[in-house]
This record gives sequence, structure tokens and C-alpha cells, in this order.
Amino acid sequence: MSNPCIICVAITGSLPGKSDNPAVPVTVSEQVESTHEAFEAGATIVHAHVRQDDGRPTSDPDRFAQLLEGVRKHCPGMIVQLSTGGRSGAGRERGGMLPLAPDMASLAVGSNNFPTRVYENSPELVDWLAAEMIRYRIKPEVEAFDLSHIHKAKEMWARGQIQGRPYVQFVMGVKNAMPVDRDVFDYYVRTVQRFFGLDAPWCAAGIGPNQIVLNEWAVSAGGHARTGLEDNIRLDRENLAPSNAALVRRVVELCDRYERPVASWQQARAILNLPQKAEAPAA
Ligand SMILES: [Zn+2]
Repeated sequence: MSNPCIICVAITGSLPGKSDNPAVPVTVSEQVESTHEAFEAGATIVHAHVRQDDGRPTSDPDRFAQLLEGVRKHCPGMIVQLSTGGRSGAGRERGGMLPLAPDMASLAVGSNNFPTRVYENSPELVDWLAAEMIRYRIKPEVEAFDLSHIHKAKEMWARGQIQGRPYVQFVMGVKNAMPVDRDVFDYYVRTVQRFFGLDAPWCAAGIGPNQIVLNEWAVSAGGHARTGLEDNIRLDRENLAPSNAALVRRVVELCDRYERPVASWQQARAILNLPQKAEAPAA
């Protein structure tokens, strides 16, 4: 049975900087170049945050627009997922780029703790972000930092706040949130299958040294995998990752080992029920 694996590359994030790893792309042109290299290596979703010139995170829609344009031009067909995550702005600022109508956007549906703060996603904000995604025909990726977030996605789907089968990403290994725990992971998979169907696609991400652990769990269990410098800047204890593409190549190797083809962008779009278009015009 051929079940292609979608590789998502989270290129930048809000936290890592050049002082942590010089390969972290910060300017838009660096981001486009790094995305292109990752795309050639096998990634078909780019998950992106943008930064100010000094490296601090921002939700500036103009930056997002430049990035979207660059990726669409240099990586035709690649799925662009913009982050509405909470480190880059407060409240509705976090969704200010949604009128750009990217293919996808991340959607946190509940709150939890992060290493040094509360990751606050009020019901009002969650409802608003979800409504904006429907308005601009953006497919959300539900970021499940907790089991309750999968239940919330089911409730939102039933109410029509999420259209189409929810695509859930399990995030494990964020300090003070859900640790990397195989029993929980297996239960997450079963819960997604129970709620959304046995063939429902899902994805997983691990933080730091757990990135490769979650990559292997996801690839071997039939899910999709997220990698990239946002979540992890190292290849191993001694070596920094030289690029996002190098981290993508680790997942490609796992796909080979577990006999899963790496999804082409056409396959990734079909699996996620996204339009098959090489270049989405910015309406
Ligand atoms: Zn992110």
C-alpha cells in the first residue's frame, strides 16, 4: 500500500536566531532560498513565521506578502502555511495576514503553558481566527499541544467552524506542555482516527532532539512529518543542522527505511484536499 508522506518544513519560527544557528533564515530572501532548497529536498509544505530586520518576530502582513510571493514564484505548487502562533503578536494581530489567502494557516484551538509563559488562545480569538480562515478559504492545521485540542477540533468541525476534515498536528516536547510519550502519541492517532476516519491524515512534530523521534514515529505509523529549524537547530549533540534541507533529508531517509514514498506537491494537495494549482494567484 502506497501512502505518501508529506514533509512539512518549519523554516524559521519565532525563537531561533543566527546566534543559535547561522543557517536560520531571517530575511525574506533567506527564507525563500531556504524554502526552495527544502522543496528540492522533498518538503511540500512550508510553515512560516516572519521576522523584523533585527530578528524579532512580527505578524507584519507586508512581510508575509513578500514571503508568499517569493515562495510561489520559486517553489510552484508548494503548499504555503502561515503561522498565526502566539509569539509574534497579540490578539487579532496574529491573523492580520489571513487576507493574503495562503493555502493553509496554523490554528491553535486552546491554551497551554510554554517554557516561560502561557500560550494564550482565548475562545473568542480561536473562533475569530477560524472564521477568518473560512472567509479566505484557508485550510487550518490544528496544532494539538494537548488531547483536549483534538476534541476541540472535532467540536469545531461539527459546528462548521472548521470546514473539511480537520488536519491535526501533534506537537510534543515543548517544555511545560505535552511531553514526548509513546502511549499518548498512539492515543492521539487513535483519537484522530475515531473522530475523523481511519484514513484521516495527521502530522507530528517534536521539539529539539525529539524532532527525529517524532519524525520516525509519524513516518512508521502512517502519518505526515514536520521538520525544520523552527523546532530544532541540531543534527545531533555535536553538530548544528547546516540547513532546513538537511533536516528534510533526514525525513526522506526515514521514508526510504519505512518504504513510504515522499509526497509530491500534487499528492500533498490531494491528501489535504487543496486545489491542484501550480501557482495560486493572490486574489
Ligand atoms: Zn510555527
